[in-house]
Amino acid sequence: MHIRSVSVLGAGTMGAQIAAHLGNAGVPVLLLDINADAAKQGLERARRLKPDPAFTPDSWTLISTGGFDTDLLRLRESDWIVEAVVERLDIKRELLAKVDTVRRPGSIVTSNTSGIPIGTLADGRSDDFRQHWLGTHFFNPPRYLRLLEIIPTPETNPDVVAAISHFADHRLGKGVVVAKDSPNFIGNHIGLYAMMRILAVVARGEYTIDEVDTITGPALGRPKSATFRTLDLAGLDVLGHVVTNLRERLGDTPERDVWTLPAFFVQMLERGLTGEKNGQGFYKRVRKANGDSDILTLDPNTLEYGAKQRVKIASLEAAASVADVRERVRSLFRADDKAGRFLRDTLAPTLVYTASVTPSIAHSPDDVDRVLRWGFGWDLGPFELIDAIGIRQVVDAARDASPEILTGGIPPLLDEPLRNGRGVIRGGDVPPAAPDLQILRTAKERTAVVRKNAGASLVDVGDGVLCVEFHSKMNVVGDDTIQMLQAGLLEASRNFVALVVGNDAPNFSAGANLMLLLLEAQEENWDDIDMTIRAFQQTMLALRYADVPVVVAPAGLTLGGGCEIALHGDRIQAAAETYMGLVEVGVGLIPAAGGTKEMLARAVETIPPGTSDHLPVVQRAFETIAFAKMSTSGPDAERLGYLRSVDAITMNRERLLSDAKARALGRVADGYHAPPRRSVIPVGGDAVLAPLKLGIHLAWRAGRISDHDALIGRKLATVMAGGSLPHPSTVGEQDLLDLEREAFLGLLGERKTLERIQHTLKTGKPLRN
Ligand code: NAD
Repeated sequence: MHIRSVSVLGAGTMGAQIAAHLGNAGVPVLLLDINADAAKQGLERARRLKPDPAFTPDSWTLISTGGFDTDLLRLRESDWIVEAVVERLDIKRELLAKVDTVRRPGSIVTSNTSGIPIGTLADGRSDDFRQHWLGTHFFNPPRYLRLLEIIPTPETNPDVVAAISHFADHRLGKGVVVAKDSPNFIGNHIGLYAMMRILAVVARGEYTIDEVDTITGPALGRPKSATFRTLDLAGLDVLGHVVTNLRERLGDTPERDVWTLPAFFVQMLERGLTGEKNGQGFYKRVRKANGDSDILTLDPNTLEYGAKQRVKIASLEAAASVADVRERVRSLFRADDKAGRFLRDTLAPTLVYTASVTPSIAHSPDDVDRVLRWGFGWDLGPFELIDAIGIRQVVDAARDASPEILTGGIPPLLDEPLRNGRGVIRGGDVPPAAPDLQILRTAKERTAVVRKNAGASLVDVGDGVLCVEFHSKMNVVGDDTIQMLQAGLLEASRNFVALVVGNDAPNFSAGANLMLLLLEAQEENWDDIDMTIRAFQQTMLALRYADVPVVVAPAGLTLGGGCEIALHGDRIQAAAETYMGLVEVGVGLIPAAGGTKEMLARAVETIPPGTSDHLPVVQRAFETIAFAKMSTSGPDAERLGYLRSVDAITMNRERLLSDAKARALGRVADGYHAPPRRSVIPVGGDAVLAPLKLGIHLAWRAGRISDHDALIGRKLATVMAGGSLPHPSTVGEQDLLDLEREAFLGLLGERKTLERIQHTLKTGKPLRN
């Protein structure tokens, strides 16, 4: 069951973005809506979305549009048809009946419905249709939210479930969870229950919006948007519909009252306070006289907006210094103050409810935890939370908060571990969903750590492959990281066949340790800085010329020094969501760990023999560095020249290191040998330097760049010209590294560079001075 082409029915919020993500996967897509115009407009709306649903502009070129009125027959060409039209049973059924008449037997048909039972949607369809029919529930935005719930019916052919799961995981990068066909499946059922519990205590006037969002954000290991900002983004009207439908679908349960929207929420809907799309919901942005904007918060009692209040709760303040999320949640839950009471009143019943419904909505507690992690960005799923807090504590608090929740007794998933004396459900993180996911974590659990310092570790990931894992804050590169890279190269060449550089953190590396660099520069320790750069440069050469293949596996932020490490691997295996760039100019410097040299050497390698004009290719590489261009995805990094055509992308972040390892072993099997040293790199000298400097001067005169930008530009241009040489010539790698280092040290002596570094350390943003 190969999926080579896909049709998406409905070009609304979800359909158009699902089409874009299929484009990201390199799959041709036919996007249909009521008519061709509607489809085109839907696609246009998606193209304007921020953050971008597409990895690169190429993704859009794979999408063609059409209308149900004229193009339905084209569905015959599709291996997979995804229905994503309005959430109405009658409309979906009518459309699916038409699809049944035109689709090719054996093609897969799925629905993106958020809540309509999957089985019901296929009533009356042909046998072949029903055997190839299932739910594929994407979360919004489909590119960025990892979860995909797959919902087969009893009639779905298991091979179809396997094919879609494999495609979603490998090609779309999704975290796949197979759910039971119950109302609203797993994520929205549990997520909404949690929301309803919170709305109820807010309606009773016990907590303010600011308090709830402060408690339910990062303190609990959840996204910053917490509860109400998330709701504003999703739309209060959407929540209203879904809750009303869910209440009907669940029928008469002891929990029925929970699914009733509080009066203040209904009034919000009546007044159009539906969130972001209407400019106001639980929060409202107002423009101040000076042009800045201010965020106001709603008072649910009066439905008036007021200034955001700083929340002062002792246990929350204490928790801010606790790094371990389990410990933080445990102490907050037990706290004898507002935060503790809030969690006992809302989280405890939510967790008990989850345990009671899990057997009817999911195939395991592991799946429930994965859903909340992947779909809602929780660091701990419900069962992990129960283990962190203690089953007994959760049950007792839930009983105090709402005794009716335990009328049927303690749910067996909680009662069993209480009775058998284990006292915990699992006792640790939810395990990887497949053996080839999260292999670094599994290796560490096998205690395969060969060596470790504060910044990085060497981990044996099996089959003769050693991994250098960074684990400093934001994985910044410092002396300890460099030492461990050197130790890794030595260890790998002695006892392993290949080396992988990668980690499981959200960001591969935010670059060099700027704080240290700033301190050293302020103390004018130029010799120490010079030594540090030399060590970094030599380590990069050692990576490139190692006698074992080195595969670097970037993901998330891969900036500055982090990017330079990637550039020096034999191969890069990048996660699809990689934001990579030589961004040193932003802090008033240039790449000096071989990054400038590598971009230049790669650029001139593309010059056909016999051509003497270096300028066009060098200029392109110059601009990439001078404008600190950062990729918006892995494929975009190839467009910028950070990745080469021999490098590769992994869609599923959890499979990145497994793919990097396979890549490294593949290189070994190919008979890897280190590349020859680059001793004759052609450089343009003044023939390149003069026009680059002219461009800088013109940009400066037009006011597009500052004095300091121009200075940095000239230093960079000098390196990229191979120095101030009267004629085109050739240089060795070390010559370019020396030029890089000289430019870097010169810039570090500039007051404006230090101001840039200070600003970035303080705000995380570049300063244009
Ligand atoms: P939407 O309103 O943005 O788009 C719905 C599309 O359906 C529109 O393009 C519209 O032209 C088309 N449509 C309207 N009436 C039609 C008809 N009579 N026949 C055929 N097509 C018609 O909706 P959406 O948010 O993209 O949701 C689509 C599906 O995805 C729904 O089933 C929804 O429950 C589900 N879903 C939505 C989200 C979300 O966050 N928006 C998340 C997960 C799942």
